[in-house]
Amino acid sequence: MPPFQLPEVKIPARQISLDPALAQQLIQAARAAATHSYAPFSHFPVGAALIMADDPQAQIITGTNIENSAYGETLCAERNAITTATAQGLRKISLIALTTPKTLNAPLAHRTPCGACRQVIQEFSTQQTLILIDGKDTPTILDLPRLLPHPFHLTSENNQNPTPENSPK
Ligand SMILES: [Zn+2]
Repeated sequence: MPPFQLPEVKIPARQISLDPALAQQLIQAARAAATHSYAPFSHFPVGAALIMADDPQAQIITGTNIENSAYGETLCAERNAITTATAQGLRKISLIALTTPKTLNAPLAHRTPCGACRQVIQEFSTQQTLILIDGKDTPTILDLPRLLPHPFHLTSENNQNPTPENSPK
């Protein structure tokens, strides 16, 4: 069999400006939301809190994971927060914080959004969107390329209607 080469994924380091007090406020809101988790099956509470860039009031919108006896109907904290925001007509995530209180000391892989949430976050993200992942000391901060290197985008090549109404792009 011939050797195949997988593409290199290289994302240069990047400086960002972020108010530490705001980051802390968002993490605290996510932690508070996690206390409302309904997770009788996984016993793994998750909390999310976000601020939308197109929200003049810059309100903090939260979500938590809501499980179901039919496991597939479970909803993640991040998507609950995002659908609450988008239902208010907001489309651009400025900051989204996520906390997993039971694994704050664990490696990042035990605290990051699931694949489905990564795709949904990117749908409402811009180049400025930041993802804050709660941890033992300071949060880990990612941007979209670092969270989801190869997101799916519907373009004119695969769709007749490439720009969804009210899209954040
Ligand atoms: Zn998820």
